[in-house]
Amino acid sequence: MNLADTEIVLGILKDDGYEITHEISRADVVLLNTCSVRDNAEQRIYGRLGNINSLKNVNPNLVVGILGCMAERLRQDLVEEKKIVDLVVGPDEYRRLPEYINIAFNGNKGIGIKLSRTETYDDIIPFREDGLQAWLSVMRGCDKFCSFCVVPFTRGRERSRSLESIISEVKQLSSRGFKEVTLLGQNVNSYNDNGTDFADLLIAVTSVDPSIRIRFTTSHPQDLSDKLLYTIAEHPGLCNYIHLPVQSGSNRILELMNRTYSIEHYLNIIEKAKKIIPGVSFSTDIISGFPSETYEDHLMTLDVMLIVRYDGAYMFKYSPREGTKAFKMEDDVPEEVKAKRLQEIIDLQQKISYEKNQELIGNEETILVEGFSKKSDQFLSGRTDTNKVVIIPINPNIREGDYVNVEIDRTTSATLFGSVIKKINYDDKNIAVST
Ligand code: SAH
Ligand code: SF4
Repeated sequence: MNLADTEIVLGILKDDGYEITHEISRADVVLLNTCSVRDNAEQRIYGRLGNINSLKNVNPNLVVGILGCMAERLRQDLVEEKKIVDLVVGPDEYRRLPEYINIAFNGNKGIGIKLSRTETYDDIIPFREDGLQAWLSVMRGCDKFCSFCVVPFTRGRERSRSLESIISEVKQLSSRGFKEVTLLGQNVNSYNDNGTDFADLLIAVTSVDPSIRIRFTTSHPQDLSDKLLYTIAEHPGLCNYIHLPVQSGSNRILELMNRTYSIEHYLNIIEKAKKIIPGVSFSTDIISGFPSETYEDHLMTLDVMLIVRYDGAYMFKYSPREGTKAFKMEDDVPEEVKAKRLQEIIDLQQKISYEKNQELIGNEETILVEGFSKKSDQFLSGRTDTNKVVIIPINPNIREGDYVNVEIDRTTSATLFGSVIKKINYDDKNIAVST
């Protein structure tokens, strides 16, 4: 989401005459787009600011600014107390960034941290380098107020972008040769543009160019509808991959987290999705060591992992965030217990990923070729629609951006290795044909 926001910021600044430099020593303005979701993200920014501020010894006019969630959360600390930055601009004030930068150039502090109920940057064309893969925000903010989460406070109320503006951006991406678009929102399932829901949005987006793969993240288990599952099943351009954060396997903890679903409801969705979308894969987010989490609660999380058999997981230690409801609960799971439980979760996920990959040996999968493999230019790297990396030997007929059917020969827990069966072409009627 921050990558997508950075592209919006670059779009705004380029319109105002700014150029991007990849050499920090040549910059007149350095902006860090920040995340507040866990404490370690914030600590990294403090570390970076230390390094960047030393550039001011060489260029005293250098403007250093903080964008994003930390601006919202830590304005006082960053500008007034530690005085380490010249500007702080929160996620809903990027339109006025040129104004705030000018204030900072004139020696004052540029501060814009108002949250908005309507800002969606609909009309801004994000600046993107050419490529295959693009992020596209379809909504901003969040109304869920999970008790551990700072997002509703730093990014404000939930609002959806207009269908029209999303479609027009996807058309531009199609004409520039992009092949994969990931639609972003904190809870995409509650997308609503005057009655157009998320499933309708997906159908409209995939109809623009069926040769573009559409991914989306994040789905909240409470709002994921049957209509969405059938829509994914019926449209080949929509990836058979759902990121569905579970957070914990214990109903008691889920309630304390204010996640508003039970584990039974969650598993019911998973079961339904597996029936409706053949070959669907899932990833998730898990938090270890939420206040009052017992060993039994932790075992319930491991149990859910064994039942769902996720293809991937983002796994975190609980990090208390000021201002949230959980911050008032005692952070009573000792650090080493949180770490140990997290390690058990990571180990189990690795084992499941390996086993799931092994099951794919002999299968035919369609991959989008993304370029040379990181390790050798004798191999190409691509991804399945379930987001798995597949390595294939180079082939004179296959280039970056091609869709190729491959047979999976062997795997590790992170990577599949395959051989080419055939290349897929999209003819002018957009029907997949083999050559
Ligand atoms: N809107 C998305 C996720 C937003 S944050 C959703 O609801 O799924 C991404 C992930 O960070 C969350 O799913 C959660 O697992 C993790 N996270 C958020 N706040 C956290 C905290 N205080 N401590 C540890 N992990 C946290
Ligand atoms: Fe945070 Fe919950 Fe909203 Fe996700 S749904 S952004 S975890 S409050």
